[in-house]
Amino acid sequence: MSDQRVHVFDTTLRDGEQAPGFSLRVTEKLQLARQLDRLGVDIIEAGFPIASPSDAEAVRRISQEIRRPVIAALARCHRADLEKAAWSLEPAARGRIHTFIATSDLHLQAKLRISREQCLEAAVDSVRFARQQTDDVQFSAEDATRSDLDFLCRVVEAVIEAGATTVNLPDTVGIATTDETREFFTAIRQRVPNADRAIFSAHCHDDLGLAVANSIAAVQGGARQVECTVNGIGERAGNAALEEIVMAFYVRRDRFPYEVGVAHKEIYPSSELLTRLSGQPVQVNKAIVGRNAFAHEAGIHQDGILKDRRTYEIMRAEDVGAPWNPLVLGKHSGRHAVQKRCKDLGLEVEGAELVEVYRALMAIADDRKILTDNDVIAVVSGVRTAQPGGAGHVDPFDTPSKVAHALPERGYDHGV
Ligand code: MN
Repeated sequence: MSDQRVHVFDTTLRDGEQAPGFSLRVTEKLQLARQLDRLGVDIIEAGFPIASPSDAEAVRRISQEIRRPVIAALARCHRADLEKAAWSLEPAARGRIHTFIATSDLHLQAKLRISREQCLEAAVDSVRFARQQTDDVQFSAEDATRSDLDFLCRVVEAVIEAGATTVNLPDTVGIATTDETREFFTAIRQRVPNADRAIFSAHCHDDLGLAVANSIAAVQGGARQVECTVNGIGERAGNAALEEIVMAFYVRRDRFPYEVGVAHKEIYPSSELLTRLSGQPVQVNKAIVGRNAFAHEAGIHQDGILKDRRTYEIMRAEDVGAPWNPLVLGKHSGRHAVQKRCKDLGLEVEGAELVEVYRALMAIADDRKILTDNDVIAVVSGVRTAQPGGAGHVDPFDTPSKVAHALPERGYDHGV
């Protein structure tokens, strides 16, 4: 395998599902897991089996059905957690036990109330036990970025010695900066003598909006697994957004010469499925999958897009499987875009008629945020009806009902 290959570890069903408002039923998790398989992620973290019976059931059913990706189950460094995770993964073609313990003094003292030595012992014991259940064991040092570096290096060396095949160093609270993250991964890989025997992994949170940038910095520092979620959902401000990492690697492959196995065209369908199942909308300006990510309302931008898409787009909506209906009509739109929309709707409008239609639409746009296709049809129809009699005036708020069923609304009017 190329040493530039970066494994995508999707934790939408674990860290993502843990976020307020995102809990899913077992059948919904299964549906999402099928889509994540189509998306091409390398590892699906399917749940935290000890946390609830339905989590255990979800991991077990996903393990039964989804055969290509590795299925991971989370477990604290407790025997009961590890046994439950192992049981949930029994049917898996390739199962991974993912065990974790905090390594920062703050977490050890304030939360776990154990010493560093006790932490080290628990980590090693758990990894050894997990390795008796499966060959694929991931260890996470929770709050790694706030841990003492010397102690962290001791833990990492010991868990690799005990059989951990992946070592994850989470920025649990999203506090790291990008240069720090890169140096952190570089330093640990240099200082830990057996580092070459494990894959290093980043798990970044977005509390400062740096999750994606930090994940990429970690890869530049030698990490070869990134933990991320669809739409960037996750605890608090969320995890690193899968779609942003993948498309950053793709669009800027000149700077990021890394390989991932993700099928770009399944990105938008994955985002949409998650939105539908969770009932939680994506913010409109969200990179890659937001409703406005490939939309243009301002006249100058619309004119550019009509002439050459590359003027204002660095990737194509089609590349991520999203619909491309880029010209949103609103009060910032120009006549080119209005004329184009009319033409798309089968209405040839030009000259004085275009001036009139444009004026009437802009009058509506002042009050409405976005003009729909039905607004356009209604206004053109109103202008045409008004002209022969010379009455001239169109009351735009009066017109839509007359032609509301003329055409179904399309594209961006429907939201994500
Ligand atoms: Mn997390």
